[in-house]
Amino acid sequence: MEDMHIHLKAGVTDINIMREYVEKCRELNINKVLFLDHGNRMSPKHTPVLNNPEVIKTFLANINIVRREYPDMEIKSGIESDFSYDEDFKKKELKNITESGVDLIIGSVHGMSKADYKDYLQANLDMLNIYPLNIIGHLKLRKEYEDYTDMIEEIVKVASQKNIIVEINTSERSRWDLHQLEYMISLFKKYNTTYTLGSDAHKIEEIGYHIPEMYIKLDKVLNNAKRDIEYSIVSRGTEKYGSKGYMGITKNENGKRHLILARHYDRYIDTYKDSFELSENYDIRNIAVSRFELMSALTIDSITNFIKDDILIIGFGNVGFSCLVHLLKKGYHNISILTNDIKEFQISGLEQLNKTFNSNIQFVNEIKNYNTYIEATGNSNVIKDIFDNTNNGSTLILLGTPRDAEYLIDPLDIHRKNLKIFGGHELNGHTMDERRKLFKELLNENKKYNFEKFVNIYMDETNIVNKILESKNNFIEVIRYEV
Ligand SMILES: [Zn+2]
Ligand SMILES: [Zn+2]
Repeated sequence: MEDMHIHLKAGVTDINIMREYVEKCRELNINKVLFLDHGNRMSPKHTPVLNNPEVIKTFLANINIVRREYPDMEIKSGIESDFSYDEDFKKKELKNITESGVDLIIGSVHGMSKADYKDYLQANLDMLNIYPLNIIGHLKLRKEYEDYTDMIEEIVKVASQKNIIVEINTSERSRWDLHQLEYMISLFKKYNTTYTLGSDAHKIEEIGYHIPEMYIKLDKVLNNAKRDIEYSIVSRGTEKYGSKGYMGITKNENGKRHLILARHYDRYIDTYKDSFELSENYDIRNIAVSRFELMSALTIDSITNFIKDDILIIGFGNVGFSCLVHLLKKGYHNISILTNDIKEFQISGLEQLNKTFNSNIQFVNEIKNYNTYIEATGNSNVIKDIFDNTNNGSTLILLGTPRDAEYLIDPLDIHRKNLKIFGGHELNGHTMDERRKLFKELLNENKKYNFEKFVNIYMDETNIVNKILESKNNFIEVIRYEV
């Protein structure tokens, strides 16, 4: 493995620190490294490091020592050079890097995070033409990168023509997501571009960060290998609005299935943060139902004292349906459902649930007086309707997430009618342990029931995400997701 972008900081001139860095690399099975630090820096808040002939001389002498001490390691010396249009700076830095004698120069554009993306890309292109570089560092692909593919392609092309290697930076600051990686690899193939992997570590603990994962991804992209991702569960509720929502993605690894909560919109799906680890023998349909039921379970289980068996669920999408399932399992029978569009399969689905749970579920078409209301639409008007129609002392559970610009609830109504209101946001207010434990219980319970009918499985259809986002009133939706 290689890590071709490691900042040494004090280790530039301190041989003992440099040795610690080498040891750390060996520990991580990294056998090819590029030790470096910044040259001159344009920004006054950054201190230059490798811009003084004496310092560079000590640095290179120390590099030679560790090379002798660790003959099995390939150790390169380098400078990460900063680019600027400022004439004085450019002259100074050009002199610095050409006279330095280090093995490899990385050229990076810094300090343009607020600049127009077009200007940032142009700076990279100009840097390639002006600086004598070996590697172009951390080229950022911003959200809007797909509108600038002509410039990005030009950068890759010029780099190839000049024999400049393109860095695949694995730091959180600059890492390309899987979609972007596939795009860049396609350009590398087209122009015969070479690349290196660099963690851009600024601390010893950051050496090798995300490098092994990147090797796995590269292998998959380059060989068109089977993807890790099997299925995605669309959680649609929040996607309609600005936050763009999230998506659960299952992934099999070492006999475990991980259900990963990931941002869906930009397909950023390479994180294990916030993931559930499940055994592989759970059916994906079971996972889908249980995943949505979790939201109701987290809310309802602690407040059953306040829920009487006279319930109205408003909204019958994923959240509403899974909530119904949970209430039935908790022993509630008298449940009404208000939804503005009843589908054929929903009617037959309810019949089956009534049989299984010996319950009395029915569709209704207006909000009347019930003991308990479960709001699963996320619409403020619905909440207001409940307030207007309910009697004293009833319970209101908010499972939908209202995101309207204004809220229509009058606090005085709560006061006058003595309402009990409970919120049910799934992701906040509960520890991961709590969620994991409950989720596993639901998975086991749901194995006993026949909920598959309520899950739509989509396979290999084109443009499936848009299709699902446009469709309404499905129960639980699961798609096969192939990036
Ligand atoms: Zn940098
Ligand atoms: Zn760097």
